[in-house]
Amino acid sequence: MPVIAYIGIGSNIGDATANCRKAIELLSEAGRVVSVSSFYHTESVGRHEQDDFINAVAAVETDRAPGDLLKACQSIEDRLGRKRGVHWGPRTADLDILLYGDLVCGLPELTIPHPHMALRKFVLAPLAEIAPDAMHPRLCRTASQLYRELKDPHTVIKCRQETKKT
Ligand code: ADP
Ligand code: MG
Repeated sequence: MPVIAYIGIGSNIGDATANCRKAIELLSEAGRVVSVSSFYHTESVGRHEQDDFINAVAAVETDRAPGDLLKACQSIEDRLGRKRGVHWGPRTADLDILLYGDLVCGLPELTIPHPHMALRKFVLAPLAEIAPDAMHPRLCRTASQLYRELKDPHTVIKCRQETKKT
């Protein structure tokens, strides 16, 4: 049975918008991309000496097991030229599994729901846009509830340009 997984996508190197578009295009290798949020311009979190991010969320209907989906996301990151090493450092593409159906998984290499998703405006704004009723299975709150209740002071601005729907 296919599952709907929500993938958070971010980039802050080079043409960040083009990198996110490419990442979404490549995500079709992992399943059927059923919706894509607007792109959001996001002030970088944690390290202020780097450029701001473009962030988006895609919903993927997939038959892949969670570990295989993670591998697919990492393969896309690699092909978009991500250099691993600096945690929260600059990256051409970061693909995080936010939700995978109602799965709860606590492995360090794969924590679902993504451990920081409920604290980040740049995740919840695009997620609430495309899936306001998506349920966080640990917190038992929907994406729109989490977004409304969020106290993240960072600036997240919806980009004006239309994102290419797949
Ligand atoms: P972050 O995305 O938190 O900024 P990184 O992308 O550098 O940090 O973290 C990558 C590591 O996080 C990978 O080694 C991966 O195994 C692990 N990880 C744990 N849970 C997830 C998840 N839900 N989605 C993507 N990576 C995850
Ligand atoms: Mg990541």
